[in-house]
Amino acid sequence: MKVIDHINQAKDTLVSFEILPPLKGKDISAIYNHLDPLMEFKPSFINVTYHRSETMFKKKIDGTFEQVEVRKRPGTVGICAAIMNYYKVDAVPHLICGGFGKRETEDALIDLNFLGIDNVLVLRGDAAKNEAFFEPHPHGHRYAIDLLKQVGNLNHGIYLEEDITNGGKTNFCMGVAGYPEKHFESPNLSTDMAYLKAKVEAGAEYIMTQMFFDNQKYCDFVKLCRENGITVPIIPGLKPITNKKQLNILPKIFHVDIPTDLSNAIMKAKTDEEVEIIGTEWLIQQSRELKQFGVPVLHYYTLGKPKVIQNVVKEVM
Ligand code: FAD
Repeated sequence: MKVIDHINQAKDTLVSFEILPPLKGKDISAIYNHLDPLMEFKPSFINVTYHRSETMFKKKIDGTFEQVEVRKRPGTVGICAAIMNYYKVDAVPHLICGGFGKRETEDALIDLNFLGIDNVLVLRGDAAKNEAFFEPHPHGHRYAIDLLKQVGNLNHGIYLEEDITNGGKTNFCMGVAGYPEKHFESPNLSTDMAYLKAKVEAGAEYIMTQMFFDNQKYCDFVKLCRENGITVPIIPGLKPITNKKQLNILPKIFHVDIPTDLSNAIMKAKTDEEVEIIGTEWLIQQSRELKQFGVPVLHYYTLGKPKVIQNVVKEVM
């Protein structure tokens, strides 16, 4: 079932989770062990992130180094199929431009369609680790909106191959990313908003936000979206802080602010266990307020911390 149908049919706030594919070499039990503690909350859908390959240097027998492309977290499509099959819960694979040509993307979409997966979260992806700015694949897309249009075309039976003029139509529900604190490359929030609106006009049926730790930022963002004529549901993305290092890492990687009250409390903590308790309490409070605000879904980035998320959702739903 499509994410948008889950939302439209819901009588109350829904819950959903997001997982990363495990590092290459693990088996599917890593996914089940991660998700099992969360299934009691009957998530409406589970997102699975997508990861491009990274350039690394590998030592050769003669002692010199060669540059190799390594994909550390493959398996998004297979994990989505396993989730659908094992838990009977809808899976939402992320789809990214970075590192992929249009043909590979089309093949992935055909696989997803054959597997009965009718949701995708359509994203640009970040720059490769060795690049200062995002560079599209030579045969790929530069912006999420271009990828969105490719999926939209497939939904109309339009394939890349010119000889398939009347192909079978896919039926993907497309979501896109939104940034309450602005995408870091955007000159200002209103420019970012204009591009977000274009993604919705190109067929995105809902927006999923970057994590935030101050609910006011989400509420202001929703207000701005509505003022700009964006009417689709806006799903808040939520993450607990579980160690002190994240006070610096999260702003650096995700370009989000940590409220002073939260950072002060974390700085005073003596151990990571204490930080985890503070982070859990903060997320419980955030979730309760957002539920009261009437958000369609509480979407939790589980990122290796299913027990923390379990403790949060138990208090909220
Ligand atoms: P876009 O919508 O393409 O926007 C990127 C930038 O370009 C923005 O500054 C925007 O304002 C601007 N822009 C947009 N359209 C245009 C245009 N037509 N012309 C000029 N400028 C334009 N990354 C992964 O690699 N894998 C994942 O699984 C993943 N999951 C994510 C899930 C969520 C909910 C979020 C919020 C992010 C996720 N990311 C993921 C990270 C995401 O890929 C990055 O934040 C990336 O930098 C931007 O992606 P986007 O889809 O928002 O890009």
